[in-house]
Amino acid sequence: MTDLFSLAHADALDAADPLRGLRDEFLIPKHEGHDQAYFCGNSLGLQPRGARAHVEEVLNKWAMEAVEGHFTGNAQWMPYHELVREPLARVVGALPSEVVAMNTLTVNLHLMMVSFYRPTRERPAILIEAGAFPSDRHAVASQVLFHGFSPDTDLIELEADEPNGTISMAAIARAIAEHGHRLALVLWPGVQYRTGQAFDLKEIARLAHAQGAMCGFDLAHGVGNLQLELHDSNADFAVWCHYKYMNSGPGAVGGCFVHERHASTDKPRFAGWWGHDVSTRFRMGPQFVPTAGADGWQLSNPPILGLAPLRASLELYDRVGMQALRERSRRLTGYLETLINARLGETLQIVTPADPLQRGCQLSLRVIGGRGMTGRSAGRALFEYLQTNGVLGDWREPDVIRISPAPLYNTHNDVLRFAQAVENWRHG
Ligand SMILES: *Cc1c(COP(=O)(O)O)cnc(C)c1O
Repeated sequence: MTDLFSLAHADALDAADPLRGLRDEFLIPKHEGHDQAYFCGNSLGLQPRGARAHVEEVLNKWAMEAVEGHFTGNAQWMPYHELVREPLARVVGALPSEVVAMNTLTVNLHLMMVSFYRPTRERPAILIEAGAFPSDRHAVASQVLFHGFSPDTDLIELEADEPNGTISMAAIARAIAEHGHRLALVLWPGVQYRTGQAFDLKEIARLAHAQGAMCGFDLAHGVGNLQLELHDSNADFAVWCHYKYMNSGPGAVGGCFVHERHASTDKPRFAGWWGHDVSTRFRMGPQFVPTAGADGWQLSNPPILGLAPLRASLELYDRVGMQALRERSRRLTGYLETLINARLGETLQIVTPADPLQRGCQLSLRVIGGRGMTGRSAGRALFEYLQTNGVLGDWREPDVIRISPAPLYNTHNDVLRFAQAVENWRHG
């Protein structure tokens, strides 16, 4: 029988992996001279080697051509965001006209709610998951208040109904049915950041629309991780960031999706000159005429230096395609799950659903014991032990370690190192 915990086994799995070469496209942080086992791609993805050349290209163009860089040579700045449109549309499963890289996630969420959260006295409410990422909660609560309603009654937060703190589709369906007549918007995550649970987005959009509500998705942890089919999901809008699985650097420019059916919407929006019809933008007239599609929500000319690394990242996604990447991801996370279930069950409890359709690459692991400790103290001690042994996950109070084998650069060897370090800590 194969020893799952043997280095030979992990290395054989890596050697048989058709996508193993992708890791070489990244700069891997070092720990005591060796590659770190880096599992924080859900927080800040690693730097693609190609990023530097794209950033330098912008710096050089600025140095040599200054203002003319907007209109001359390769990768002109005026249409620069067009360079990422098509590959980005492929990553999220959308039409090119439905996506735009702009601003940052929370800004885009507000801009989308300006257009797609139009509360009335009869229908003022927003449904989100309880324990949502704080920025999302701040954004929705402040929008409710901005429109003169009260988060106490009009921000509905659906509590987890499953033992691990995950939410069943039945509970989502019940909540949408129960509050349906009052719902203006359902805002749901593609992958919940704390539990790692992934959701059936198409079904959620269907349920929301059946009640006459709008439906938007926060894909911060979904993009570059799940095989999304945003257009077919029928969502009204979606927003995401590019610094997590999309590996585009700290504070990278975010992304936004607006479904084709709203391409020429007459819904109100907050406008800026970069959303104005491209063909007449530089006539500098006083009337705002939006560009059709997601581009029409742009405000400012984009930060070109911030967009540059995204080009390098998208080249990698295009080389593999989301389907093959997702298959690799399922193998890696499946291996992590197998190792935990085989030998680490006394120390770690997997919070994330076992069904591969209900998760991406991340497993959220509740630390239940070890070294005579329980809960929080054991959790922090294990987290710190892993860190000093070159294995970097991240810590969520009160007792969860998130381990996210990123499909572009993590390996079975990395996963084994995590499992071995946990075993060593328990017996150490
Ligand atoms: C990472 C993350 C954010 C961060 O928002 P920024 O505007 O990019 O700072 C917001 N919401 C969710 C769900 C996230 O995972």
